[in-house]
Amino acid sequence: MLPGLRARPALVWVAVTSALLIALFALQWRSLNRFELATAGVLRQNSVRTAEAIAQQIQRDFKSPTFNLLEQIDHNDVYDLRLEAITAGLRARAHQFPLIDRFFIWSRKPLRERQGSPTLMTGEVLFFDVRRSGAGSAQPLSGVTRDDELSTILRTEAQAFARYRNLYALSQRSQDGRDCQVVYHLLYETPERPLLWAFLGFLTDSDHLRSHYFPELHARAGAYGSPLAGLPSTALSIIDAAGVEVFRSKQSLLSAFEGEARFPFLFFDVDLIESLNPRPAIHYWTVRTAYDATTAAAIASRESAAHRLLWLTVAIVATAGIVLSTRASFRETRLSEMKSEFVASVSHELKTPLAKILLFAETLASGRAPTAAKADEYYRIIIAQARKLSRLIGALLDFGRIEAGVRQYPVEEVDLRDVLQDAFEAFEQELTLNHFTCELVVPDHDVPVLGNAEGLQQLFENLISNALKYSGAERALKLELHTDDSEAIVDVTDRGVGIPRREHRRIFQRFYRGADATARNVAGSGVGLSIVEHVVRGHGGRVTVQSTPGAGSRFRVVLPRLGYAHGEPNETHSGDRG
Ligand code: ADP
Repeated sequence: MLPGLRARPALVWVAVTSALLIALFALQWRSLNRFELATAGVLRQNSVRTAEAIAQQIQRDFKSPTFNLLEQIDHNDVYDLRLEAITAGLRARAHQFPLIDRFFIWSRKPLRERQGSPTLMTGEVLFFDVRRSGAGSAQPLSGVTRDDELSTILRTEAQAFARYRNLYALSQRSQDGRDCQVVYHLLYETPERPLLWAFLGFLTDSDHLRSHYFPELHARAGAYGSPLAGLPSTALSIIDAAGVEVFRSKQSLLSAFEGEARFPFLFFDVDLIESLNPRPAIHYWTVRTAYDATTAAAIASRESAAHRLLWLTVAIVATAGIVLSTRASFRETRLSEMKSEFVASVSHELKTPLAKILLFAETLASGRAPTAAKADEYYRIIIAQARKLSRLIGALLDFGRIEAGVRQYPVEEVDLRDVLQDAFEAFEQELTLNHFTCELVVPDHDVPVLGNAEGLQQLFENLISNALKYSGAERALKLELHTDDSEAIVDVTDRGVGIPRREHRRIFQRFYRGADATARNVAGSGVGLSIVEHVVRGHGGRVTVQSTPGAGSRFRVVLPRLGYAHGEPNETHSGDRG
């Protein structure tokens, strides 16, 4: 079978699995894109929910003092101007209402009817300062204070609102250069509300909102979003009705933001605003949220980048796995094919010399040799074929021992010149018969190596035998031994058919036979060069090939010289090829 056909199932398998892998990869990539979009969506949604929760919290905080504090203070205490009771009540509750700057009361009741407080005049608005510590927690520290100017203003305003018989009233004013919201709770003598009896209320301070309330809100912002682990903290921005960013925690969210919600800037319940007369204008402020110094899209892409990397690694590992396992199984198949070819060619190689020996021996035995010269020639053929057979069997036995890992090479000092000479002589006759021009070049001094003479001779015989087998029109063989400082170098050069570049490495594999050798039906088993490499390595050396198809080949064997520390072989070498 052609190698191409043998490789086809493996290639088809690689193609199919690779296609599946690519499809899987593309699907996963698409789903990662969707995952990224979905993650960004969830993060945006989370930010929107945070903004909405903060806006609701602001509304609760804004309307809370109106409906809780102003209702919790005993209105009779206000009318009766029971200042200690009111102070105590405020002291107990003011921390729940951090937005209040000043609490105030007014009563129609003449002040002189009360004991104490001789400095206060009847009909005056009495103030309770709610001073704040740095953290913004509110505590009414002082008792009652006076503010004549503000007192007149509040009284006049309250009387004006009372004409509409409102229970609550809101107004806005600038006090000491600061924006103040004023909330009144008006108390009447009878349910028909003909006469204002008393009022109580509070002032809020916009500066305090900016400097304390919004920062505190931001500090708690994490609690308003979903608890998603590993997210950057929330960036918060509050934008007033005029579009001015009155508070921002980090980056400006005027243009880029994730979540947005509005809230009425009102210290009153927006649903009850209809009950007020005249109805105050409602200004809406905006809460904007984002992620600190980043965007939802950036966080999502960072998250999916990690997944992509993981998936890419999996894909690479899987592809490498497929390629490697396919290669391994392809090699395995090829090896078992080569083994079968080996058995076939070995049988053939054994049969051919045997047949020749039989033929010529029978001819001689029956006295059918035409002349004495012919008989001599038949004897030589029989000897040559017997030697060939012996070499082949020797090589096979060696190969068997190498494969089994039991090939031993007892070493001794060997002159490489002798080994080369012996190997050459073993082939001399055959080379002459095949009209080879031979050259043996050796130095005029000993070239001692520590090695096994038999193994080394077999190594060179294999190389010479190959030069014989793979000869072309020009038949020449040159054996050359030379040395350098630490190594002995043997070049076995022929002018035969040569070896294509792509086969240079493979020819040393066991059972491998060159395409040309198989095509031209050259007898062989594919183990000769694997034995060569094994023996060379066993001697601490190396073998290389240089060859050009059509021009010939040069096999170079390099062995360490005896007496040179570099690369000296061990005492005994055994086959180490697996
Ligand atoms: P075999 O000769 O039995 O096929 P080898 O292991 O000795 O096995 O050689 C492996 C292959 O290397 C050969 O089949 C042949 O293709 C190639 N080869 C080896 N020596 C030579 C050479 N001197 N010239 C050309 N090809 C060679």
